[in-house]
Amino acid sequence: MLYPQNFDVIVVGGGHAGTEAALASARMGCKTLLLTHNIETLGQMSCNPSIGGIGKGHLVKEVDALGGAMALATDEGGIQFRILNSSKGPAVRATRAQADRVLYKAAIRRMLENQPNLWLFQQAVDDLMVEGDRVVGAVTQVGIRFRAQAVVLTAGTFLDGKIHVGLNNYSAGRAGDPPAVSLSARLKELKLPQGRLKTGTPPRIDGRSIDFSKCQEQPGDGMEGGMGAAMPVFSFMGKAEMHPQQMPCWITHTNQRTHDIIRSGFDRSPMFTGKIEGVGPRYCPSVEDKIGRFADKESHQIFLEPEGLTTHEYYPNGISTSLPFDIQYDLVRSMAGLENAHILRPGYAIEYDYFDPQQLKSSFETKAIQGLFFAGQINGTTGYEEAAAQGLFAGINAALQAGAKTAWTQETWVPARDEAYLGVLVDDLITKGVSEPYRMFTSRAEFRLQLREDNADARLTETGRKLGLVDDARWEAFSRKRDAVSRETERLRSIWVSPKNLAAAESERVLGKAIEHEYNLADLLRRPNVSYGDLLSLDGGRYANAELATPQGQVPTPFVATVVEQVEIAAKYSGYIDRQRDEVQRASHYENLRLPAELDYMQVTALSIEARQSLNKVRPETLGQASRMSAITPASISLLMIHLKKGG
Ligand code: FAD
Repeated sequence: MLYPQNFDVIVVGGGHAGTEAALASARMGCKTLLLTHNIETLGQMSCNPSIGGIGKGHLVKEVDALGGAMALATDEGGIQFRILNSSKGPAVRATRAQADRVLYKAAIRRMLENQPNLWLFQQAVDDLMVEGDRVVGAVTQVGIRFRAQAVVLTAGTFLDGKIHVGLNNYSAGRAGDPPAVSLSARLKELKLPQGRLKTGTPPRIDGRSIDFSKCQEQPGDGMEGGMGAAMPVFSFMGKAEMHPQQMPCWITHTNQRTHDIIRSGFDRSPMFTGKIEGVGPRYCPSVEDKIGRFADKESHQIFLEPEGLTTHEYYPNGISTSLPFDIQYDLVRSMAGLENAHILRPGYAIEYDYFDPQQLKSSFETKAIQGLFFAGQINGTTGYEEAAAQGLFAGINAALQAGAKTAWTQETWVPARDEAYLGVLVDDLITKGVSEPYRMFTSRAEFRLQLREDNADARLTETGRKLGLVDDARWEAFSRKRDAVSRETERLRSIWVSPKNLAAAESERVLGKAIEHEYNLADLLRRPNVSYGDLLSLDGGRYANAELATPQGQVPTPFVATVVEQVEIAAKYSGYIDRQRDEVQRASHYENLRLPAELDYMQVTALSIEARQSLNKVRPETLGQASRMSAITPASISLLMIHLKKGG
């Protein structure tokens, strides 16, 4: 049957990529259909219920700056928030939240159900309608044919998915969900280049059977005993009051006995016996992989993370495994606090089809079939955040192709590498392809000083507004902050202090020494030892800005805090950012620098293990060649250059 209505855009799959794609397309005014296996699993987290982290949090903030759903849903569902790297520079600071998976899913579903221009439909998609070299729609399991101008495919781990537990395996999209077998076969028929990847998840534990007194408590920021006093929020529009009750995580460790148990299962491991052919993520290895590769390590830290407020289920982060269940049972029970643990769900690995992202245009439209876009895990990535960012991106470009009427005048929108992590992600995927599941790291970005979580709004919200993604409330809040930052920066530039109007004693107290000539306050703020608060105290507060002033002893409002943060970071980092641009330009001259053929990269200890292993394996001839290897980041190249300069 041909469905009586035509759509502008069809999105297949209601995971993290699909939901953001559908919301973006609908927000841009396109009549959008989200077709998914099961409406109950919209926004489901297949693995650990946590959002963000280093590099990933940056993507979430960017999705948010473009009006996406992930950050707001996390603010509504987050039961523990932390700022990682809080003592380091702002470029690598990142927000991470533990989410209640039920609350998170409910928030995503509510946003989808209330989005104008968006239709939901529950059915498996078995086929694509293709006319010539153009996709014109999708066909469901029971033969309903939906027509559209563009189709975004976000099938995640479901394409010909196969679950492994020990030497047992069966077809599935993830535990409890069906695989997408017919669609996988159809895509193979269309001759899109594909391969197999794998990922895994740990067994889940009933919290009532955990002895927490033997574990170390890890509270979140803003909780009693937490590292940061302020409660973080993810969304630009988020408020700490939106968060539900907060919960601690717990820490236990593996030990020698755990490792012995794991080793005793190697002969029944689907990974080590060759049952699994797909390549897994090296930086997020299974516990058997860790024990095999780092045999001399005596113990590994395991985080026990609550899955929600209304469940006893815990996620033991660090023991992802596809070993046989009897080994899983024993290894869990060998750890402190888990001696009597009851396993609620076995851990498993899943193998699935992915498609080589090098066959995508920069808009994520496939080169082979017009109107067909791919986003998320299907492109060889791993992670909710990477999927959400790609989904939003593909949704935007599908909507533009389907004729969305917005203030954006170009045919596609593709952010540059110095504009967004999303730009880095897209460029990396389409230029380098993947040989293992790709996840985001800050080290993948050569412009990371300017790609910070804290300025995602300044980098992207104006574009989002032009694309029709940003609603009036967000736009007003953004404009208010942007204008306040610019007013305050200008004000600081216009106020001059000189030996005449600043008492020497005051100057010494605030600046460390008497000022020798005239400076404006913006110049003084560039000094590493001078804070914004110091400026306000100069000359008894004569220079204070009433708009941002906070009475002594009171905590600044979130608005004041974010404005001051931007003014301060912009002043302090402008020099570094300019230098970073120069360095990147200079680095391009090293393209033909030859690497010594005999160099043992394992001795270049500043590089990550992953980089060292890859370099030793591939043995690139030039630095330029090394820089294009997928395991080699721009940061690795800098470290390698330093090593070579030192004559290493
Ligand atoms: P998914 O979230 O998989 O969503 C796909 C959606 O498409 C589902 O709603 C599905 O029902 C629907 N669908 C698929 N085929 C069809 C069809 N033919 N018709 C209709 N609907 C269809 N990420 C990490 O970062 N770290 C980890 O440690 C990690 N471990 C993982 C372990 C496991 C076992 C699994 C399954 C995933 C793991 N992930 C991990 C990956 C993470 O879950 C994904 O990266 C993320 O969910 C990808 O989002 P997505 O939207 O691309 O796909």
